[in-house]
Amino acid sequence: MKIDREKLRAGAAEWGVALDSTALSRFADYAALLMEWNQKINLTAIREPDEIVAKHFIDSLAPLPFLKLQNNAKVIDVGTGAGFPGMAFLIARPDLRLTLLDSTKKKLLFLQEVLAALGLEAETLHMRAEEAGQTSAYREQFNCATARAVSHLRELSEYCLPLVKVGGFFAPLKAAELSTELKESKAAFSRLGGRLERVETYQISGVGGRSLPILKKISHTSPKYPRPSAQIAKKPLV
Ligand code: SAM
Repeated sequence: MKIDREKLRAGAAEWGVALDSTALSRFADYAALLMEWNQKINLTAIREPDEIVAKHFIDSLAPLPFLKLQNNAKVIDVGTGAGFPGMAFLIARPDLRLTLLDSTKKKLLFLQEVLAALGLEAETLHMRAEEAGQTSAYREQFNCATARAVSHLRELSEYCLPLVKVGGFFAPLKAAELSTELKESKAAFSRLGGRLERVETYQISGVGGRSLPILKKISHTSPKYPRPSAQIAKKPLV
């Protein structure tokens, strides 16, 4: 299974992400491993090379320039699954100090193999986000927390904002229609020490509309948060 490197290069360039030949080879190897492992464990329903390029790689890369990440920024991808968007960020920006967090061990085993094959370094963290948020090694340690396709923005904020340093930000990849979710999440943002700065909206050809809410961490998160999983699910922050 081979991806069309030129399509990937041009698609990323449209979003201001320059991929050199090393990055393109790494994406090709990543796609090959994704397909190989997908026969053993369920990593993705997307199997066509062009779709992997558009719906996983370009979709993950498009928000990167909006984030304006500093050199060596500490970034955590919460619920990374098969590595989206985090692994794509790292291939485009190998300077990032990246943590790939997921509660499913086998997905992290896959990501460890990808990192070794690509010659890249990142931390793989087998934990629930709400446990990481109460662990001093991870709480308020990151310049940026991101996530794609994990949960409602209100719950996701409770998973992610406690991990962000004051002055850092939380920016999850979201679907185009976000107004209801935003309304329902407003109280959670302020309780968790975050403030919505702006929402970037954009259209990726062959993929669809996307929103990228960017929340700044403006004050420390109360030690009450994140709460245990069952409470997060049962008692939304309102
Ligand atoms: N972000 C990837 C993507 O966009 O392709 C994976 C999305 S997948 C639908 C959701 C992932 O989030 C799963 O791998 C799941 O194990 C993980 N997840 C869900 N809730 C989590 C939590 N509270 N802590 C850590 N991982 C979580």
